[in-house]
Amino acid sequence: MIPSTPGKIWFVGAGPGDPELITVKGQKLLAQAGAVLFAGSLVDRAATMWAPPGCAIRDSKDMTLEEMTAWLIDQASRHATVVRLQTGDPSLYGALIELARPLRDAGIEWAVVPGVSSAMASMAAAGESMTLPEVTQTVILTRVEGRTPMPDGEDLASLAAHRSTICIFLSITLMHKVEKALREAGWPEDSPMLVVHKASWPGEQKILRGTLADIKARCREAGVASQAMIVASPTLGALHWETLVRSKLYDPTFTHRFRKASA
Ligand code: SAH
Repeated sequence: MIPSTPGKIWFVGAGPGDPELITVKGQKLLAQAGAVLFAGSLVDRAATMWAPPGCAIRDSKDMTLEEMTAWLIDQASRHATVVRLQTGDPSLYGALIELARPLRDAGIEWAVVPGVSSAMASMAAAGESMTLPEVTQTVILTRVEGRTPMPDGEDLASLAAHRSTICIFLSITLMHKVEKALREAGWPEDSPMLVVHKASWPGEQKILRGTLADIKARCREAGVASQAMIVASPTLGALHWETLVRSKLYDPTFTHRFRKASA
């Protein structure tokens, strides 16, 4: 049925790869979608698993931004629900605003459904925590400079001076730059590092642990050269530490809004 007013375009986070890591809301929207434009091989399974028969499903990998917006606008004139499916969360390295501006200009309604970012999925896969009391309470999501230049003040060496958890996207082929920046920031050679390839992909996920000194060699040995998250963090490996500062929230000697101290 052709709607009398244009449909709505939903930017949906597909999650990191496992089709079950899409949100319930994202899955429901896919199930009622008349058209789905998906971003590359990482999310095709979610699209094909949850979209209804007869849904127009298109891969955007060979399209320009103009072609993508034209396709979305055309589909919105035919269907009430159109989904733009993106890996992880749409707000991270997803060209969200570039795609949304022409939709706004065309008077088409759009909205975003967040997704599980690969940064979260990588930590989950490794059983690691982004934050730990008195170790770090801060997470930096970044990348190193490739063909996309880094804005002033955001070079990895300056960010790494904070000694927080740093999740580095889009940089697995630039590991030499990652290492150089961490060294410049004074991270010791035995700083723990984590690389997760295809986090959450059943049967394809690889978890590599190492240090600043050897993580590059470990990636090479394992043949990991794409679709990987690099994590540098003082929290890595905390499961095996002898001493750990406890979280105040669950500390028996700590009173808070929902519980009185018992000791
Ligand atoms: N919006 C996405 C990121 C897109 S940029 C998100 O929130 O996750 C693409 C980069 O994300 C890749 O170069 C890689 O660094 C990372 N990435 C995406 N999926 C991944 C996965 N399943 N495992 C590890 N890294 C992944």
